[in-house]
Amino acid sequence: MTVRTRIAPSPTGDPHVGTAYVALFNMAFAHSQGGQFLLRIEDTDQARSTPESERAILDALHWLGLDWDEGPDNGGDKGPYRQSERSEIYREHADQLLESGRAFRCFCSSERLDELRATQMADKQQLGYDGHCLHLDKEEVAARLSKGEPHVVRMQVPREGQCTFDDMLRGEISIDWAQIDLQVLLKEDGMPTYHLANVVDDHLMEISHVIRGEEWINSAPKHILLYQYFGWQRPVFCHLPLLRNTDKSKLSKRKNPTSILYYQRMGYLPEALLNYLGRMGWSMPDEREKFSLKEMLEVFDIQRVSLGGPVFDVEKLSWLNGMWIRDELSDEQLADRLQEWALNRDTLMAFLPFARQRMETFSDLASLGNYLVSGMLPISADDLKSAGMEEDQLIEVLQFALWRLESLQQWNRDNIFNALKAIADAMGIKLKPFLAPLFIAIAGSSASISVMDSMDLLGADMSRARLRHAIELLGGVGKKKLKKMEKAYQAIS
Ligand code: GLU
Repeated sequence: MTVRTRIAPSPTGDPHVGTAYVALFNMAFAHSQGGQFLLRIEDTDQARSTPESERAILDALHWLGLDWDEGPDNGGDKGPYRQSERSEIYREHADQLLESGRAFRCFCSSERLDELRATQMADKQQLGYDGHCLHLDKEEVAARLSKGEPHVVRMQVPREGQCTFDDMLRGEISIDWAQIDLQVLLKEDGMPTYHLANVVDDHLMEISHVIRGEEWINSAPKHILLYQYFGWQRPVFCHLPLLRNTDKSKLSKRKNPTSILYYQRMGYLPEALLNYLGRMGWSMPDEREKFSLKEMLEVFDIQRVSLGGPVFDVEKLSWLNGMWIRDELSDEQLADRLQEWALNRDTLMAFLPFARQRMETFSDLASLGNYLVSGMLPISADDLKSAGMEEDQLIEVLQFALWRLESLQQWNRDNIFNALKAIADAMGIKLKPFLAPLFIAIAGSSASISVMDSMDLLGADMSRARLRHAIELLGGVGKKKLKKMEKAYQAIS
Protein backbone atom coordinates (compact mmCIF):
# COMPACT_ATOMS: atom_id res chain seq x y z
CA MET A 1 0.00 0.00 0.00
CA THR A 2 1.24 3.49 -0.85
CA VAL A 3 0.95 5.80 2.10
CA ARG A 4 -0.91 8.99 1.17
CA THR A 5 -1.68 11.76 3.62
CA ARG A 6 -3.27 15.15 3.23
CA ILE A 7 -3.87 18.53 4.79
CA ALA A 8 -7.37 19.82 4.10
CA PRO A 9 -7.67 23.46 5.14
CA SER A 10 -10.89 25.45 4.88
CA PRO A 11 -10.09 28.86 3.39
CA THR A 12 -12.20 30.87 5.81
CA GLY A 13 -9.63 33.05 7.53
CA ASP A 14 -5.98 33.70 8.16
CA PRO A 15 -3.47 30.87 7.68
CA HIS A 16 -3.41 29.28 11.15
CA VAL A 17 -0.29 27.92 12.85
CA GLY A 18 -2.37 24.81 13.68
CA THR A 19 -2.78 24.14 9.95
CA ALA A 20 0.99 24.33 9.48
CA TYR A 21 1.53 22.02 12.44
CA VAL A 22 -0.84 19.35 11.11
CA ALA A 23 0.58 19.78 7.59
CA LEU A 24 4.11 19.30 8.91
CA PHE A 25 3.25 16.01 10.64
CA ASN A 26 1.33 14.73 7.62
CA MET A 27 4.25 15.55 5.39
CA ALA A 28 6.76 14.00 7.78
CA PHE A 29 4.73 10.82 8.14
CA ALA A 30 4.27 10.43 4.37
CA HIS A 31 8.00 11.02 3.93
CA SER A 32 8.91 8.47 6.61
CA GLN A 33 6.85 5.85 4.77
CA GLY A 34 8.06 6.71 1.27
CA GLY A 35 4.56 7.99 0.51
CA GLN A 36 2.90 11.13 -0.81
CA PHE A 37 1.40 14.17 0.82
CA LEU A 38 -1.29 16.28 -0.77
CA LEU A 39 -3.21 19.47 -0.12
CA ARG A 40 -6.94 19.79 -0.66
CA ILE A 41 -8.98 22.96 -0.22
CA GLU A 42 -12.24 22.34 1.67
CA ASP A 43 -14.30 25.31 0.53
CA THR A 44 -17.81 23.90 0.69
CA ASP A 45 -18.86 26.70 3.03
CA GLN A 46 -19.41 29.16 0.21
CA ALA A 47 -20.42 32.02 2.47
CA ARG A 48 -17.20 31.94 4.49
CA SER A 49 -14.61 30.72 1.98
CA THR A 50 -12.62 33.29 0.02
CA PRO A 51 -9.97 33.01 -2.70
CA GLU A 52 -7.83 35.49 -0.70
CA SER A 53 -7.78 33.15 2.27
CA GLU A 54 -6.91 30.18 0.04
CA ARG A 55 -4.02 32.14 -1.52
CA ALA A 56 -2.78 33.24 1.90
CA ILE A 57 -2.85 29.66 3.23
CA LEU A 58 -0.91 28.26 0.28
CA ASP A 59 1.61 31.13 0.39
CA ALA A 60 2.10 30.81 4.14
CA LEU A 61 2.68 27.05 4.00
CA HIS A 62 5.13 27.45 1.11
CA TRP A 63 6.88 30.28 3.00
CA LEU A 64 7.44 27.83 5.85
CA GLY A 65 9.03 25.40 3.43
CA LEU A 66 6.16 22.91 3.29
CA ASP A 67 5.48 21.43 -0.12
CA TRP A 68 2.94 18.92 -1.34
CA ASP A 69 3.06 16.37 -4.12
CA GLU A 70 -0.44 17.19 -5.35
CA GLY A 71 -2.68 20.18 -4.79
CA PRO A 72 -4.71 22.98 -6.36
CA ASP A 73 -1.59 24.91 -7.33
CA ASN A 74 0.55 22.08 -8.67
CA GLY A 75 -2.09 19.62 -9.91
CA GLY A 76 -2.02 15.84 -9.78
CA ASP A 77 -4.11 13.03 -11.22
CA LYS A 78 -6.70 12.83 -8.44
CA GLY A 79 -7.95 16.41 -8.83
CA PRO A 80 -9.60 18.80 -8.82
CA TYR A 81 -8.18 19.55 -5.37
CA ARG A 82 -10.72 22.23 -4.53
CA GLN A 83 -14.04 20.93 -3.23
CA SER A 84 -16.11 23.70 -4.84
CA GLU A 85 -15.10 22.17 -8.18
CA ARG A 86 -16.36 18.71 -7.21
CA SER A 87 -20.02 19.31 -6.28
CA GLU A 88 -21.32 16.89 -8.91
CA ILE A 89 -19.27 14.07 -7.37
CA TYR A 90 -20.79 14.65 -3.91
CA ARG A 91 -24.32 14.84 -5.30
CA GLU A 92 -23.87 11.49 -7.03
CA HIS A 93 -22.62 9.95 -3.80
CA ALA A 94 -25.51 11.40 -1.80
CA ASP A 95 -27.87 9.89 -4.39
CA GLN A 96 -26.25 6.49 -3.89
CA LEU A 97 -26.92 6.71 -0.17
CA LEU A 98 -30.52 7.80 -0.74
CA GLU A 99 -31.07 4.84 -3.06
CA SER A 100 -29.62 2.35 -0.62
CA GLY A 101 -31.71 3.82 2.22
CA ARG A 102 -28.62 4.95 4.14
CA ALA A 103 -29.70 8.57 3.86
CA PHE A 104 -33.04 10.36 3.82
CA ARG A 105 -34.49 13.68 2.76
CA CYS A 106 -35.44 16.03 5.55
CA PHE A 107 -37.92 18.83 4.91
CA CYS A 108 -37.91 20.31 8.41
CA SER A 109 -37.92 24.11 8.40
CA SER A 110 -35.28 26.05 10.28
CA GLU A 111 -38.07 27.31 12.60
CA ARG A 112 -38.92 23.74 13.55
CA LEU A 113 -35.27 22.91 14.14
CA ASP A 114 -34.79 26.05 16.25
CA GLU A 115 -37.81 25.12 18.36
CA LEU A 116 -36.55 21.56 18.75
CA ARG A 117 -33.19 22.83 19.90
CA ALA A 118 -34.75 25.24 22.37
CA THR A 119 -36.90 22.46 23.88
CA GLN A 120 -33.95 20.07 24.08
CA MET A 121 -31.89 22.74 25.79
CA ALA A 122 -34.68 23.59 28.24
CA ASP A 123 -35.16 19.87 29.06
CA LYS A 124 -31.38 19.38 29.30
CA GLN A 125 -31.60 16.65 26.67
CA GLN A 126 -28.91 15.70 24.20
CA LEU A 127 -29.06 18.14 21.27
CA GLY A 128 -29.65 16.78 17.81
CA TYR A 129 -32.15 16.00 15.12
CA ASP A 130 -35.13 13.97 16.38
CA GLY A 131 -35.71 11.88 13.24
CA HIS A 132 -38.94 13.67 12.29
CA CYS A 133 -38.52 12.98 8.53
CA LEU A 134 -36.87 9.61 8.95
CA HIS A 135 -39.91 7.57 8.00
CA LEU A 136 -41.72 9.69 5.43
CA ASP A 137 -43.22 7.38 2.82
CA LYS A 138 -41.97 7.40 -0.76
CA GLU A 139 -45.12 9.01 -2.20
CA GLU A 140 -45.00 11.90 0.22
CA VAL A 141 -41.33 12.49 -0.49
CA ALA A 142 -41.99 12.39 -4.25
CA ALA A 143 -44.91 14.81 -3.92
CA ARG A 144 -42.92 17.28 -1.85
CA LEU A 145 -39.99 17.03 -4.23
CA SER A 146 -42.16 17.72 -7.23
CA LYS A 147 -43.47 20.83 -5.48
CA GLY A 148 -39.82 21.87 -5.16
CA GLU A 149 -39.91 21.98 -1.35
CA PRO A 150 -36.54 22.93 0.10
CA HIS A 151 -34.85 20.08 1.92
CA VAL A 152 -31.53 18.62 3.04
CA VAL A 153 -30.16 15.07 2.92
CA ARG A 154 -29.27 13.49 6.26
CA MET A 155 -27.47 10.25 7.03
CA GLN A 156 -28.93 7.35 8.98
CA VAL A 157 -27.10 6.64 12.22
CA PRO A 158 -27.73 3.71 14.58
CA ARG A 159 -29.35 4.84 17.83
CA GLU A 160 -27.93 2.04 19.93
CA GLY A 161 -24.54 0.53 20.66
CA GLN A 162 -21.12 2.03 20.19
CA CYS A 163 -18.75 2.90 17.43
CA THR A 164 -15.32 1.51 18.23
CA PHE A 165 -12.26 2.33 16.19
CA ASP A 166 -8.50 2.40 16.43
CA ASP A 167 -6.52 5.58 16.49
CA MET A 168 -2.86 5.25 15.51
CA LEU A 169 -1.73 7.18 18.60
CA ARG A 170 -4.59 6.74 21.04
CA GLY A 171 -5.47 3.07 20.59
CA GLU A 172 -9.10 2.00 20.83
CA ILE A 173 -11.73 4.75 21.07
CA SER A 174 -15.44 4.07 21.69
CA ILE A 175 -18.24 6.57 21.22
CA ASP A 176 -21.96 5.88 21.78
CA TRP A 177 -23.96 6.06 18.58
CA ALA A 178 -26.67 7.88 20.52
CA GLN A 179 -24.31 10.85 20.74
CA ILE A 180 -23.98 11.07 16.98
CA ASP A 181 -26.40 13.34 15.17
CA LEU A 182 -28.28 12.34 12.02
CA GLN A 183 -25.80 14.49 10.17
CA VAL A 184 -26.78 16.67 7.23
CA LEU A 185 -24.79 15.49 4.20
CA LEU A 186 -26.18 17.75 1.49
CA LYS A 187 -27.38 21.23 2.34
CA GLU A 188 -30.44 22.98 0.91
CA ASP A 189 -28.32 24.58 -1.79
CA GLY A 190 -27.14 21.16 -2.96
CA MET A 191 -23.63 21.68 -1.53
CA PRO A 192 -22.17 18.93 0.64
CA THR A 193 -21.26 19.39 4.27
CA TYR A 194 -17.69 18.82 5.41
CA HIS A 195 -18.42 15.21 6.46
CA LEU A 196 -19.64 13.93 3.10
CA ALA A 197 -17.11 15.82 1.01
CA ASN A 198 -14.22 14.88 3.27
CA VAL A 199 -14.95 11.15 3.22
CA VAL A 200 -15.69 10.98 -0.50
CA ASP A 201 -12.51 12.89 -1.30
CA ASP A 202 -10.29 10.96 1.08
CA HIS A 203 -11.49 7.79 -0.62
CA LEU A 204 -11.21 9.04 -4.21
CA MET A 205 -7.83 10.63 -3.51
CA GLU A 206 -6.68 7.32 -2.01
CA ILE A 207 -5.73 8.76 1.36
CA SER A 208 -4.37 5.93 3.50
CA HIS A 209 -3.85 7.85 6.77
CA VAL A 210 -6.05 10.67 8.02
CA ILE A 211 -3.84 12.67 10.37
CA ARG A 212 -5.66 15.66 11.84
CA GLY A 213 -6.39 17.59 15.02
CA GLU A 214 -8.09 15.92 17.97
CA GLU A 215 -11.12 18.21 17.59
CA TRP A 216 -12.25 15.79 14.86
CA ILE A 217 -12.37 12.65 17.04
CA ASN A 218 -16.12 13.01 17.61
CA SER A 219 -16.70 13.21 13.87
CA ALA A 220 -14.86 9.96 13.22
CA PRO A 221 -17.95 7.72 13.84
CA LYS A 222 -19.88 9.56 11.10
CA HIS A 223 -16.97 9.12 8.76
CA ILE A 224 -16.51 5.45 9.63
CA LEU A 225 -20.20 4.86 8.99
CA LEU A 226 -19.99 6.58 5.62
CA TYR A 227 -17.06 4.34 4.59
CA GLN A 228 -19.15 1.37 5.62
CA TYR A 229 -22.26 2.59 3.72
CA PHE A 230 -20.22 3.06 0.55
CA GLY A 231 -18.50 -0.29 1.03
CA TRP A 232 -15.04 1.33 1.07
CA GLN A 233 -12.02 0.43 3.11
CA ARG A 234 -11.45 3.16 5.64
CA PRO A 235 -8.14 4.95 6.17
CA VAL A 236 -6.15 4.75 9.39
CA PHE A 237 -7.11 7.57 11.76
CA CYS A 238 -4.62 9.54 13.78
CA HIS A 239 -5.71 12.48 15.90
CA LEU A 240 -2.90 14.82 16.90
CA PRO A 241 -3.02 16.73 20.17
CA LEU A 242 -4.31 20.31 19.93
CA LEU A 243 -1.93 23.22 20.34
CA ARG A 244 -2.52 25.06 23.61
CA ASN A 245 -2.04 28.53 25.08
CA THR A 246 0.34 28.76 28.02
CA ASP A 247 -2.67 28.43 30.38
CA LYS A 248 -3.40 25.07 28.63
CA SER A 249 -6.62 26.30 26.98
CA LYS A 250 -7.01 25.62 23.26
CA LEU A 251 -4.75 27.93 21.23
CA SER A 252 -6.88 30.94 20.43
CA LYS A 253 -6.21 34.32 18.95
CA ARG A 254 -7.63 36.01 22.03
CA LYS A 255 -4.57 34.84 23.96
CA ASN A 256 -1.94 34.24 21.31
CA PRO A 257 -1.50 35.36 17.74
CA THR A 258 -2.48 32.35 15.62
CA SER A 259 -1.94 33.63 12.11
CA ILE A 260 1.25 32.63 10.32
CA LEU A 261 1.19 36.07 8.68
CA TYR A 262 1.64 37.63 12.11
CA TYR A 263 4.83 35.64 12.72
CA GLN A 264 6.05 36.56 9.26
CA ARG A 265 5.40 40.24 9.89
CA MET A 266 7.06 40.05 13.32
CA GLY A 267 10.23 38.84 11.64
CA TYR A 268 10.44 35.21 12.69
CA LEU A 269 12.43 32.95 10.41
CA PRO A 270 10.28 30.33 8.69
CA GLU A 271 12.87 27.69 9.62
CA ALA A 272 12.55 28.59 13.29
CA LEU A 273 8.76 28.59 13.28
CA LEU A 274 8.69 25.22 11.55
CA ASN A 275 11.31 23.90 13.99
CA TYR A 276 9.14 25.07 16.87
CA LEU A 277 6.03 23.42 15.40
CA GLY A 278 8.04 20.22 15.02
CA ARG A 279 8.58 20.30 18.77
CA MET A 280 4.86 20.41 19.51
CA GLY A 281 4.34 16.99 21.07
CA TRP A 282 7.35 15.56 19.23
CA SER A 283 11.06 15.45 19.92
CA MET A 284 14.22 14.41 18.12
CA PRO A 285 15.59 11.05 19.29
CA ASP A 286 18.55 12.96 20.84
CA GLU A 287 16.18 15.58 22.32
CA ARG A 288 18.02 18.46 20.61
CA GLU A 289 15.89 21.57 20.40
CA LYS A 290 17.14 23.16 17.22
CA PHE A 291 16.68 21.12 14.05
CA SER A 292 15.88 21.72 10.40
CA LEU A 293 13.00 20.26 8.44
CA LYS A 294 15.48 18.03 6.61
CA GLU A 295 16.84 16.70 9.90
CA MET A 296 13.34 16.11 11.21
CA LEU A 297 12.29 14.24 8.06
CA GLU A 298 15.36 11.99 8.24
CA VAL A 299 14.43 10.53 11.63
CA PHE A 300 10.68 11.10 11.88
CA ASP A 301 8.70 8.44 13.72
CA ILE A 302 5.07 9.27 14.41
CA GLN A 303 5.02 7.04 17.46
CA ARG A 304 7.21 9.64 19.19
CA VAL A 305 4.23 12.01 19.27
CA SER A 306 3.11 12.44 22.86
CA LEU A 307 -0.49 13.27 23.60
CA GLY A 308 -0.13 15.75 26.48
CA GLY A 309 -1.35 19.07 25.00
CA PRO A 310 1.69 20.84 23.52
CA VAL A 311 1.97 24.49 24.59
CA PHE A 312 2.66 27.06 21.90
CA ASP A 313 4.69 29.58 23.84
CA VAL A 314 5.69 32.67 21.89
CA GLU A 315 8.57 33.39 24.29
CA LYS A 316 10.12 29.98 23.61
CA LEU A 317 9.62 30.50 19.90
CA SER A 318 11.47 33.83 20.15
CA TRP A 319 14.32 32.18 22.02
CA LEU A 320 14.61 29.52 19.33
CA ASN A 321 14.40 32.15 16.61
CA GLY A 322 17.31 33.99 18.24
CA MET A 323 19.37 30.79 18.14
CA TRP A 324 18.59 30.38 14.45
CA ILE A 325 19.66 33.96 13.73
CA ARG A 326 22.89 33.63 15.68
CA ASP A 327 23.92 30.10 14.70
CA GLU A 328 22.66 29.69 11.18
CA LEU A 329 22.92 33.03 9.41
CA SER A 330 26.09 34.85 8.42
CA ASP A 331 25.93 38.66 8.41
CA GLU A 332 25.48 38.51 4.66
CA GLN A 333 22.59 36.09 4.96
CA LEU A 334 21.03 38.06 7.78
CA ALA A 335 21.19 41.21 5.66
CA ASP A 336 19.43 39.36 2.83
CA ARG A 337 16.75 38.07 5.17
CA LEU A 338 16.12 41.52 6.66
CA GLN A 339 15.73 42.94 3.19
CA GLU A 340 13.37 40.18 2.20
CA TRP A 341 11.41 40.83 5.38
CA ALA A 342 10.73 44.58 5.47
CA LEU A 343 13.87 46.65 5.09
CA ASN A 344 13.34 47.13 1.40
CA ARG A 345 12.22 49.54 -1.26
CA ASP A 346 8.63 48.27 -1.23
CA THR A 347 8.22 49.26 2.42
CA LEU A 348 9.82 52.61 1.75
CA MET A 349 7.72 53.33 -1.33
CA ALA A 350 4.52 52.50 0.51
CA PHE A 351 5.41 54.83 3.37
CA LEU A 352 7.07 57.78 1.58
CA PRO A 353 3.90 59.39 0.19
CA PHE A 354 2.79 59.89 3.82
CA ALA A 355 6.16 60.49 5.40
CA ARG A 356 7.31 63.20 2.99
CA GLN A 357 4.59 65.56 4.26
CA ARG A 358 6.21 65.50 7.68
CA MET A 359 9.94 65.29 6.92
CA GLU A 360 12.43 68.10 7.20
CA THR A 361 15.54 65.94 7.15
CA PHE A 362 16.06 62.36 6.05
CA SER A 363 16.79 61.40 9.60
CA ASP A 364 13.18 62.21 10.55
CA LEU A 365 12.28 58.99 8.76
CA ALA A 366 13.46 56.83 11.64
CA SER A 367 11.11 58.31 14.23
CA LEU A 368 8.22 58.58 11.77
CA GLY A 369 8.48 55.03 10.47
CA ASN A 370 9.83 53.18 13.47
CA TYR A 371 6.46 51.57 14.23
CA LEU A 372 6.28 50.05 10.75
CA VAL A 373 9.20 47.73 11.39
CA SER A 374 8.50 47.10 15.08
CA GLY A 375 6.69 44.30 16.86
CA MET A 376 4.62 45.25 19.92
CA LEU A 377 5.24 48.89 20.74
CA PRO A 378 6.85 50.05 23.99
CA ILE A 379 3.75 51.92 25.14
CA SER A 380 2.06 51.92 28.55
CA ALA A 381 -1.47 52.09 29.90
CA ASP A 382 -0.82 55.78 30.69
CA ASP A 383 0.05 56.48 27.07
CA LEU A 384 -3.30 55.04 26.05
CA LYS A 385 -5.11 56.99 28.75
CA SER A 386 -3.47 60.18 27.56
CA ALA A 387 -5.92 60.07 24.65
CA GLY A 388 -8.30 61.59 27.19
CA MET A 389 -10.94 58.89 27.35
CA GLU A 390 -12.37 57.44 30.51
CA GLU A 391 -10.95 53.93 31.11
CA ASP A 392 -14.11 51.86 30.57
CA GLN A 393 -14.85 53.62 27.34
CA LEU A 394 -11.24 53.32 26.28
CA ILE A 395 -11.33 49.52 26.54
CA GLU A 396 -14.69 49.45 24.81
CA VAL A 397 -13.44 51.54 21.90
CA LEU A 398 -10.38 49.30 21.44
CA GLN A 399 -12.36 46.07 21.77
CA PHE A 400 -15.22 47.14 19.50
CA ALA A 401 -12.74 48.37 16.90
CA LEU A 402 -10.91 45.04 17.15
CA TRP A 403 -14.08 42.97 16.72
CA ARG A 404 -15.19 45.06 13.77
CA LEU A 405 -11.77 44.78 12.14
CA GLU A 406 -11.63 41.03 12.77
CA SER A 407 -14.69 40.59 10.57
CA LEU A 408 -13.29 42.62 7.66
CA GLN A 409 -12.93 40.41 4.61
CA GLN A 410 -10.78 42.80 2.59
CA TRP A 411 -8.10 44.77 4.38
CA ASN A 412 -7.73 48.18 2.74
CA ARG A 413 -7.88 51.81 3.79
CA ASP A 414 -11.49 52.45 2.74
CA ASN A 415 -12.85 49.36 4.40
CA ILE A 416 -10.90 50.12 7.58
CA PHE A 417 -12.19 53.69 7.57
CA ASN A 418 -15.81 52.64 6.99
CA ALA A 419 -15.62 49.98 9.69
CA LEU A 420 -14.21 52.38 12.29
CA LYS A 421 -16.56 55.21 11.33
CA ALA A 422 -19.55 52.88 11.69
CA ILE A 423 -18.45 51.89 15.20
CA ALA A 424 -17.73 55.49 16.24
CA ASP A 425 -21.18 56.57 14.97
CA ALA A 426 -22.91 53.67 16.68
CA MET A 427 -21.15 54.52 19.95
CA GLY A 428 -22.06 58.18 19.54
CA ILE A 429 -18.42 59.31 19.65
CA LYS A 430 -16.97 61.84 17.21
CA LEU A 431 -14.40 60.30 14.89
CA LYS A 432 -11.42 62.32 16.10
CA PRO A 433 -11.60 61.39 19.79
CA PHE A 434 -12.59 57.84 18.82
CA LEU A 435 -9.44 57.43 16.75
CA ALA A 436 -7.08 59.02 19.30
CA PRO A 437 -6.41 55.85 21.37
CA LEU A 438 -6.17 53.81 18.18
CA PHE A 439 -3.33 56.06 16.99
CA ILE A 440 -1.42 55.27 20.16
CA ALA A 441 -2.16 51.53 20.04
CA ILE A 442 -1.18 51.24 16.38
CA ALA A 443 1.61 53.77 15.92
CA GLY A 444 2.70 54.59 19.45
CA SER A 445 1.86 58.26 19.16
CA SER A 446 -0.92 60.53 17.98
CA ALA A 447 1.58 62.38 15.78
CA SER A 448 1.76 59.57 13.23
CA ILE A 449 0.22 59.48 9.77
CA SER A 450 -3.51 58.67 9.57
CA VAL A 451 -4.22 55.58 11.63
CA MET A 452 -6.22 54.05 8.76
CA ASP A 453 -3.21 54.36 6.47
CA SER A 454 -0.98 52.97 9.20
CA MET A 455 -3.21 49.93 9.60
CA ASP A 456 -3.31 49.42 5.86
CA LEU A 457 0.51 49.50 5.74
CA LEU A 458 0.93 47.26 8.77
CA GLY A 459 -1.55 44.65 7.54
CA ALA A 460 -4.43 43.01 9.35
CA ASP A 461 -2.48 40.70 11.64
CA MET A 462 -0.06 43.20 13.13
CA SER A 463 -2.81 45.83 13.48
CA ARG A 464 -5.10 43.47 15.33
CA ALA A 465 -2.26 42.18 17.48
CA ARG A 466 -1.44 45.75 18.55
CA LEU A 467 -5.06 46.44 19.45
CA ARG A 468 -5.10 43.25 21.52
CA HIS A 469 -1.84 44.26 23.13
CA ALA A 470 -3.28 47.67 24.05
CA ILE A 471 -6.31 46.01 25.67
CA GLU A 472 -3.95 43.77 27.65
CA LEU A 473 -1.94 46.81 28.78
CA LEU A 474 -5.14 48.24 30.22
CA GLY A 475 -5.62 45.09 32.27
CA GLY A 476 -7.52 43.01 29.70
CA VAL A 477 -11.18 42.07 29.78
CA GLY A 478 -12.42 39.45 32.25
CA LYS A 479 -15.00 36.83 31.25
CA LYS A 480 -17.93 38.63 32.83
CA LYS A 481 -17.08 41.96 31.34
CA LEU A 482 -16.48 40.34 27.99
CA LYS A 483 -20.01 38.91 27.96
CA LYS A 484 -21.45 42.33 28.75
CA MET A 485 -19.37 43.95 26.06
CA GLU A 486 -20.35 41.32 23.52
CA LYS A 487 -24.01 42.12 24.17
CA ALA A 488 -23.41 45.84 23.83
CA TYR A 489 -21.44 45.25 20.65
CA GLN A 490 -24.18 43.11 19.14
CA ALA A 491 -26.74 45.77 19.98
CA ILE A 492 -24.89 48.38 17.93
CA SER A 493 -23.67 46.27 15.04
N1 GLU B 1 -11.45 21.14 6.60
C1 GLU B 1 -11.14 20.58 7.88
C2 GLU B 1 -10.36 21.61 8.68
O1 GLU B 1 -10.29 22.72 8.27
C3 GLU B 1 -10.35 19.31 7.69
C4 GLU B 1 -10.43 18.36 8.84
C5 GLU B 1 -9.84 17.01 8.47
O2 GLU B 1 -8.62 16.97 8.32
O3 GLU B 1 -10.59 16.06 8.29
O4 GLU B 1 -9.81 21.37 9.71
